[in-house]
Amino acid sequence: MTQPKPTKNRISKKAASFTESVIREMTREAVKYGAVNLGQGFPDFAAPEDIKQKAMEAIAADHNQYAITWGVKSFRDAIAEKTKWFLDLDVDPETEITVTCGSTEGMIAGMLATVDAGEEVIVFEPFYENYAPDAILSDATPRHVPLRRTENGWQFDKDELRNAFNEKTKAIIICNPNNPTGKVFTREELEFIADLCKEFDAICFTDEIYEHIIYKGERRKGKGESEETKHISMAQLVGMRERTVVVNSLSKTYSVTGWRVGYCIAPPDITNAIRKVHDFLTVGAANPLQHAGAYALSLPESYYTELQKEYQKKRDFIIPVLQEAGFKCDAPQGAYYVMTDISDFNFENDIEFTNFLIREIGVTVVPGSSFYHDAALGKTEVRFCFCKKDETLEAAAERLQKLKSRI
Ligand code: GLN
Repeated sequence: MTQPKPTKNRISKKAASFTESVIREMTREAVKYGAVNLGQGFPDFAAPEDIKQKAMEAIAADHNQYAITWGVKSFRDAIAEKTKWFLDLDVDPETEITVTCGSTEGMIAGMLATVDAGEEVIVFEPFYENYAPDAILSDATPRHVPLRRTENGWQFDKDELRNAFNEKTKAIIICNPNNPTGKVFTREELEFIADLCKEFDAICFTDEIYEHIIYKGERRKGKGESEETKHISMAQLVGMRERTVVVNSLSKTYSVTGWRVGYCIAPPDITNAIRKVHDFLTVGAANPLQHAGAYALSLPESYYTELQKEYQKKRDFIIPVLQEAGFKCDAPQGAYYVMTDISDFNFENDIEFTNFLIREIGVTVVPGSSFYHDAALGKTEVRFCFCKKDETLEAAAERLQKLKSRI
């Protein structure tokens, strides 16, 4: 039978207006070409044995049906306790925590719960690529404020940020420590942002998934900060707890990115709205994995110190490798990414360079353009991640040697 001619767009304008994730696509490319994957930010080493054991025990103990929509009670209690000792914040697990399917769902649920069409959301650029579709799906109008590479690391211009705020500003998204730049915002910068949020009655969405990955000596040398490697949460600043949505997850801290267990901490009125959105998006996150999460969040401080040390070693290995291979980059202050400048290789753009790197050199990265609203802004950059086994990083280092002849 012949089909009648279509009279409607089968794809919504929203879905048509963004592409699939380039970060996730790069992992498929890595598999296809057998390239070492320094693209998508997930560890290729095992998750801690004791945490895996707790997940298996939870399945054996029949925690296999829906959990409470906003999260297993013991997990929410553990989140509150950990937030108290780590950030010294009092959080009510009954009214201020929503467990989500990863921080990805936390961020989009948070935005859907708070932002109306026509309202503006400020995003520092380069940004973690999810924030762009998040803005489209929640009808927000994004306002981009550049982070620029300087001799003192990645910096924003205070006037530019102030000028981005106006009466339509509903929220600002920050990612601290930052993906993809590795920037760790100073207390002074956070206070500047906080003051603008208060002045313009804006919410702050703060993605703090890398809170435990901050490198020694890298928190703003010379600024007299005492908490050298200690994370500062936006929610700790005066007057911000009541206007901040902290988005976090088990993924990076416990090396379980595939478990998809995250959480939002927000004041009760916002939490109430996030819980409703979350309920109808996903009902809930995996029940047994939340039980394992309750255990993970009760681990002693030594676990986090070890994690920090391990990543510090990996960072200190990869940076000179990249610099010697011809990439311009500085050591990140936090998180596990390096945003590099590839202009010395003289390629047409970041996509051409990435294709070459995957196919000819055998290393996968993420093209810089996927972190900018305008592809041209990222055409001389690619992002490496280094949350990989030592042997993976060594294999990448060996392959990258071949690049020297290209400069
Ligand atoms: N946050 C990781 C990255 O930036 C992984 C993102 C994802 O694929 N969910 O690479």
